Amino acid sequence: MNTPFSFSAVGTITTPFKQKFAIPRQPNLARAKGQIHLYPDYADPQVFKGIDGFSHLWLLFVFHQTMERGWKPAIKAPRLGGNATLGVFASRSTHRPNPMGMSVVENHGVKIINGQPVLNVCGVDLLCGTPIIDIKPYIRYADSIEASDNLDHYAPIPHRPVSFSEQALPQLHQHSQRHPDLAALITAVLQQDPRPAYRHKNLDDEKVYQVLLYDLDIAWQVRESAIIVQAIELV
Ligand code: SAM
Repeated sequence: MNTPFSFSAVGTITTPFKQKFAIPRQPNLARAKGQIHLYPDYADPQVFKGIDGFSHLWLLFVFHQTMERGWKPAIKAPRLGGNATLGVFASRSTHRPNPMGMSVVENHGVKIINGQPVLNVCGVDLLCGTPIIDIKPYIRYADSIEASDNLDHYAPIPHRPVSFSEQALPQLHQHSQRHPDLAALITAVLQQDPRPAYRHKNLDDEKVYQVLLYDLDIAWQVRESAIIVQAIELV
């Protein structure tokens, strides 16, 4: 019998990613920081006892923004080229029967803020506000398999040079005072060319794209294979 289960989130994560577009496909492709705030039932400092002994953590979470769309048995895998598909259980698709994700992130420690423990992490690929259903230590002897196969014919993730226009440079400087990691974060996110895969062939694209990071709207273009940030403005 297929027994139903019911889980509820232990907390939520705050991240710089305010929309799905341009979030890296996996953790640690950008040094994006996150803060996990626990719900009152779990906000006992004892839950994190010993966590500083682990450099990395697994976050289990819910793809809450897309869960209502349901699941698909197979998904298009642009990085396999053209219309090739992978089964849902052979992929990290967000459209799963149980819409759960898992990401390994760096552990940046627990701080007590207003009497509540807040767990700081880095390298997230999660939308701001994502419900966290569990946190576990990453255990190298079990979780790191050197001899694993990983569809090595996947197209590599693009790595385009990123520069800032004359208009964007002073804006970058201004907003970096509140967000010291801004230049590094914009560069890491955009160098992966977050445009839809079918546009990747267009290396001189007139369209201006927009990405929301923190409270900022970043306007950028792909010109002669490189990314140019055109403007950085408050939302
Ligand atoms: N590392 C996780 C995994 O393998 O289960 C997630 C991989 S999934 C391919 C990463 C993408 O999930 C991101 O690029 C973003 O578009 C999407 N995403 C992140 N947080 C989400 C959320 N709360 N709801 C829906 N989609 C989300």
